[in-house]
Amino acid sequence: MTSTPTPDHPFTELQLAPATLANLTQLGYVSMTPIQAASLPLALAGHDLIAQAKTGSGKTAAFALVLLANLRASGERGVQALVLCPTRELADQVAHEVRRLARAEENIKVLTLCGGAPIRPQLASLEHGANIVVGTPGRVLDHISRDSLRLDGLNTLVLDEADRMLDMGFFNDIASVARACPIERQTLLFSATYPAGIAQLAQQFLRAPKEVKLLEQHAPTKIRQVFFQVDRRDRLDAVARLLDHYRPVSTLAFCNTRQQCRDLLALLQERGFVALALHGDLDQVERDQVLIQFANRSCSVLVATDVAARGLDIAQLEAVINVEITPDPEIHIHRIGRTGRVDADGWAFSLATMEEMHFVGRIEADQGAQFEWQPLADLKPQSRKPLSPPMATLQILGGRREKMRAGDVLGALTGSAGFDAKQIGKININELSTYVAVERSIANLAAQKLTAGKVKGRTVKVRVLG
Ligand code: ADP
Ligand code: MG
Repeated sequence: MTSTPTPDHPFTELQLAPATLANLTQLGYVSMTPIQAASLPLALAGHDLIAQAKTGSGKTAAFALVLLANLRASGERGVQALVLCPTRELADQVAHEVRRLARAEENIKVLTLCGGAPIRPQLASLEHGANIVVGTPGRVLDHISRDSLRLDGLNTLVLDEADRMLDMGFFNDIASVARACPIERQTLLFSATYPAGIAQLAQQFLRAPKEVKLLEQHAPTKIRQVFFQVDRRDRLDAVARLLDHYRPVSTLAFCNTRQQCRDLLALLQERGFVALALHGDLDQVERDQVLIQFANRSCSVLVATDVAARGLDIAQLEAVINVEITPDPEIHIHRIGRTGRVDADGWAFSLATMEEMHFVGRIEADQGAQFEWQPLADLKPQSRKPLSPPMATLQILGGRREKMRAGDVLGALTGSAGFDAKQIGKININELSTYVAVERSIANLAAQKLTAGKVKGRTVKVRVLG
């Protein structure tokens, strides 16, 4: 039997500068993702764009390569590109990706302007000049009104996760920002869904946009969906049984309500799982800590509602669990799309009570598929050892403000402390703290050695999170 070859679109098909292509290769970006292959040729040719694709499909590079190609001589100081994002986390992720993609060019300044952060340092950075601004609509508008952000030299406006920004009530702010941009510009709008407000935005602020939609959202083989019928009272217990049976390293468990999040978190923690919850009551620092611990693999399960989990970009998610079936088939698609990212396989487990069967029917009809069901009784613990994450997170007091760099922490751990670089995972540096993932078995020792020794020539306070 022959299989249909997957169409491969190397980045070399595009009219990009050789240095940019070389940088992409270095980043391991060889072939374009489907949304990139569909949108980049149009956008690089100068068209406005409305692009619809799910989270994790590579939208950032799809617009970042365009705004970088649109940059005029790098000596110019003014802001030439503006990306609006719904949240600070997304803005940080986008800025990070834009910086990586911009490495080929010299001296490109990328600045984030988000609410919740103090305004004074932002004013100072704007004084210094930025070429690309990534920010949330409210704060960007604030800077426009103060005249600290001038957009007369802007040539690219990007609305990222536009549906989410509309959900958050940003329509008017986005409209005001768009009106402050020069009429001669390229506008790119990205959205996972297509509610009415998107058409309204597009009509008012885009010029003859090309539409790109990728509705065959998942290669069906990459995400394995399995359904289990449960009684209401066994629902949360079933989550623990799924974890014991499949033993995924990272699982995102979706609940329909906050109360269910709390109940599930309590049950999982009581059973000895390393679990955290993401909900609206967390302040920004707590939310950052939860996300960092989950992304660096020191937390097995993240329990969240759809609202709390929106826009998260976490690679390597082995499993998604629908603790309850969502009535909205589109939400179901988004939930399970969190697993099986660009080049990894994933599991999507769904727990359904008899009362929820009609929702399952709707989802099946929507996806044109018949789902696989397994009896709950087949789930047996696969090991006597409890499921435990491979890493643990150390929090070091001292971050960007102290000019902490990843190399300083790595140096301290592999130098006098004597650990192997292989035992150290992701290092995240925030304003006031640095978080470093280390193999779980060495966490306490590593914290002791860091406390006893020096980082960047100073003694530091360190604690193991969790
Ligand atoms: P989205 O904005 O659609 O949610 P992202 O732009 O955040 O998705 O991309 C998801 C992940 O895929 C990121 O980790 C990114 O580095 C990676 N990625 C994007 N494009 C490619 C590519 N062409 N090849 C390999 N990895 C890619
Ligand atoms: Mg994105």
